[in-house]
Amino acid sequence: MESENPERIEVGLKQETQSPIAIVGGGPAGALAGALLAAGGEKVLLFDEKLAWEKPCGGGVTHKTLEQYPFLREAHSEYKAVEDCELISSSGQRARFQLRNPVAIFSRFVLNEMLLERARRAGAELRKERVTRIDGKAGDWLLSTPSGEYRASYVVLAAGARNPFRGQFSKAFAADDLMVTAGYFIPGRCSLMQIQFLKGISGYIWIFPRPDHVSAGIAGKMGETSTAELRRMLERWLADHGFSIEGAQFYSHILPALRPATIEALEVNGEGWALIGDSAGLVDPITGEGLYYALRSAELCAEAVLAGEHARYKARMEEEILPELRLAARVSQRFYNGRVFGESVLERMVALTQRSATCRDLMCDLFAGIQGYRDLRPRLYRSLPAMLAEVLGSKLRGALRIRRPSPSSA
Ligand SMILES: Cc1cc2nc3c(=O)[nH]c(=O)nc-3n(C[C@H](O)[C@H](O)[C@H](O)COP(=O)(O)OP(=O)(O)OC[C@H]3O[C@@H](n4cnc5c(N)ncnc54)[C@H](O)[C@@H]3O)c2cc1C
Repeated sequence: MESENPERIEVGLKQETQSPIAIVGGGPAGALAGALLAAGGEKVLLFDEKLAWEKPCGGGVTHKTLEQYPFLREAHSEYKAVEDCELISSSGQRARFQLRNPVAIFSRFVLNEMLLERARRAGAELRKERVTRIDGKAGDWLLSTPSGEYRASYVVLAAGARNPFRGQFSKAFAADDLMVTAGYFIPGRCSLMQIQFLKGISGYIWIFPRPDHVSAGIAGKMGETSTAELRRMLERWLADHGFSIEGAQFYSHILPALRPATIEALEVNGEGWALIGDSAGLVDPITGEGLYYALRSAELCAEAVLAGEHARYKARMEEEILPELRLAARVSQRFYNGRVFGESVLERMVALTQRSATCRDLMCDLFAGIQGYRDLRPRLYRSLPAMLAEVLGSKLRGALRIRRPSPSSA
């Protein structure tokens, strides 16, 4: 248990007397939890093996997230606010529209650095070390890193989707609860955000413009196809759409996409520990959005810890976040593989978006994160007559344009 490094021993002893909270992982979840806990007067020791880094991610942050965390909006020079959006179905139908509330697209290095700096300023102690073991029990944890050992009273696991500790506190993710992703950070600029749906893949290709490069990626359910095949599909698509991957950096990563039963049994905290962000599996299984959930779970966890009512974290998650994710998990299969009136849901959705202003309105709210899944069905029922009328109108206009002779031919 003793470290040869005197500084480490001193830090360890100091923490023993002051019962620090250890946060493992300094991504958005860990960094925000660190900032809030330190600002609330807790002694916080935050470990990240890399600290700020370009984590494989689209970096898309919704309007809802910017509203909830205004300091992100204040960093507007650090992200690209994207308004132009295009959905492409697997058959090649396209729906292009303007978002009412732009999506803010961050480089993850910039986002993580900003959040870690807030934690540092709030008084959290940041350590660029990889945690290799967590032993002990509530009130007396021992965390090992290659350069020392640290005692902690409480452990917040925020180490992302790929970490060996999840299984120690709760159940490790099964392959069916994960998505695989592959992508490129491509030098150059563009301003159109594109989402391409794919036949036979429960996921999509995305093109997310960032301030000084483009984040392009592809995601699919683990087991549905291999990472190598996803990479090939993405490369083909990029080549067909005029993106060159010369000099682009490749990445691949996993992403939680929990099944309904897994969300039902989800444990987010226990005696002396809590899981937040991707470590807890808090990602929208349809869209892959995880940044909002990482930040919000960190906030709810920190509030519960600061109030000394640790069980409140799970209760707040049950009230606010888990019902949405549960519903998304139930709908996900139908969204990607279902059919309506003999056509795939996705083809219908893109066609509707192309032809109906009411549907585009709804899309804008979905992209902004302000339209939840729980009240989506009533809104769809309410809007259906308007959408159908708009589709009919658009078809009629199309037919008239075809039949009406042009002035020159007349
Ligand atoms: C390809 C891809 C694209 C995505 N695009 C989007 C998007 O556009 N919008 C969106 O909202 N979400 C997106 N997501 C999801 C989003 O990236 C995650 O939900 C988010 O990063 C979760 O934050 P986190 O802090 O929980 O985990 P992470 O961001 O993964 O952070 C975990 C941190 O823990 C550190 N760590 C891990 N193990 C250890 C250890 N043993 N010791 C010390 N440190 C450790 C890592 O270095 C890392 O910094 C995407 C995910 C992927 C994979």
